[in-house]
Amino acid sequence: MSKKDKPSSGAAGLCHLVGAGPGDLGLVTLRAKEVIEAAEVVVYDYLCNPEMLAWAPKDAEIIYAGKKAGAHTLRQEEINALLLEKVRAGKRVVRLKGGDPFVFGRGGEEALALARAGARFEVVPGVSSTVAGPAYAGIPVTQRGHVSQLTIFTGHEDPEKGGSAVDFAQLAQAPGTKVMLMGVERLEPISRQLLDAGADPALPAALVRWATTPRQQTLVGTLGDIAAKAAAAKFEAPAVAVFGEVVNLRDELSWFERRPLFGRRIVVTRTRQQAGGLSSRLRALGAEVIEIPTIRIEEPANLREFAELVRDAHTYEWVVFTSPNGVDAFFGLFYRLYKDARSIGGVRIAAVGPATAARIRDFHLAVDAQPEKAVAESLVEELQKEGSLENVNILVVRAETTREVLARDLSKLGAIVDEAIAYRTVPETGEGDAGRASALARFKEEGADMVTFASGSAVENFLALKVPLAKGTRVASLGPITSKALKDAGVLVDVQSPGADLDQFAAAIAKFYSPEKGNEHSRARAS
Ligand code: SAH
Repeated sequence: MSKKDKPSSGAAGLCHLVGAGPGDLGLVTLRAKEVIEAAEVVVYDYLCNPEMLAWAPKDAEIIYAGKKAGAHTLRQEEINALLLEKVRAGKRVVRLKGGDPFVFGRGGEEALALARAGARFEVVPGVSSTVAGPAYAGIPVTQRGHVSQLTIFTGHEDPEKGGSAVDFAQLAQAPGTKVMLMGVERLEPISRQLLDAGADPALPAALVRWATTPRQQTLVGTLGDIAAKAAAAKFEAPAVAVFGEVVNLRDELSWFERRPLFGRRIVVTRTRQQAGGLSSRLRALGAEVIEIPTIRIEEPANLREFAELVRDAHTYEWVVFTSPNGVDAFFGLFYRLYKDARSIGGVRIAAVGPATAARIRDFHLAVDAQPEKAVAESLVEELQKEGSLENVNILVVRAETTREVLARDLSKLGAIVDEAIAYRTVPETGEGDAGRASALARFKEEGADMVTFASGSAVENFLALKVPLAKGTRVASLGPITSKALKDAGVLVDVQSPGADLDQFAAAIAKFYSPEKGNEHSRARAS
């Protein structure tokens, strides 16, 4: 029986009205993730971070109900009817709404429609942009001793067209902080109303757009000039507006926009599986990351031979690993052949560099030799320190295309060397990978501040995409071998990591952009 016609779900029709948070994926609640993971239908809005849709089961029905001002995809009554229909069909429905579903999200209307029709629903509150937006701009919406009242209002309606639900005269007199959603397009008439009603033109004001995302921008002014400033800067929705003395705290409390790579768009070109490590490090430093995988790891052409060498690994005195991918391929196969780690026998294990060594340790095996400098020549010296290599059996695990110096040099010293070709790197064409296609399109359209490369094959395959690097686009390389591939291709290297470790790579990139360097490139793209 397929999942779709499971009888149990018939009775279990239920709609979760879920807050998707303000944008940063880390601000989605655990409960939200849990219900998305169990959803049969997800109906989501324009301001929801689409990354969380990947949490839904593969066969879930994903429906976009988004509204951008002016271009309504589904009318509210249609959304209500859709939710009801799906719940009545027995589905587990997730209605995903930006921020908190009950804060200017029309979640209340949807809940009422379900309640009145006798359909089951539950609410999963979310982190609202009304507080998270200011928080990410370094503005606490309340502050002990000064501000003990917070008013949240909608700027959805034009106060001069009449019929506005907001009483601006009363609002102007209200003490404390005022936060407005949905009003950047109407800032001018709204601030005029407040001024006319006696509000202080010097009242500090701030607009935070695309809050909590790498595209966040903050504009600071006063009630008297914020509308003109926003118009001049073409400061568009979605934005949260904050009016109040608390805006001044931003001078000291701005944190999100002060992270080392904030405002930088950086391309990561590794394989889809490997990209995550570098991407998450760069994101943690504030960068906006575009992942464009250029290579893919595939099984070696002669898998049988590789499998035989893995099987016999315990008969060697040394097994030498030259890349994390090789370690993965080796142990992936090893643990399919053997159920016991001790089947590796008494072999000693060597790694060419720290990333490779770290991956070996991930498999709970210690590394017996690792050179200080992550190159083949240094590894040979390191092995020699452990004793003569005369007649020593060594298995070298490597990629199909990498340099063969290691085996050659070891053989010269009298070792008996076998090479296990563990994998090959092939160009990533990205067929059927919508994420990659849109990332590539975005890069072509908007460019990036920097492109990072972690291997010679990534360089080669990125250049094969024939997307020219715009003038001023910086290039970062993981190490000397990658840098050489770039130089050979006529590409200037701006940053080279001091080591193959991803923390070092990310730190080197952050250092390149640090203001202390005083270079022109320390100026952030977003102001
Ligand atoms: N329920 C949502 C608000 C929905 S109304 C919440 O609790 O946050 C939509 C408005 O929310 C937008 O017009 C904008 O004013 C604000 N908004 C939502 N996400 C935002 C973001 N990331 N940055 C700035 N404003 C945002």
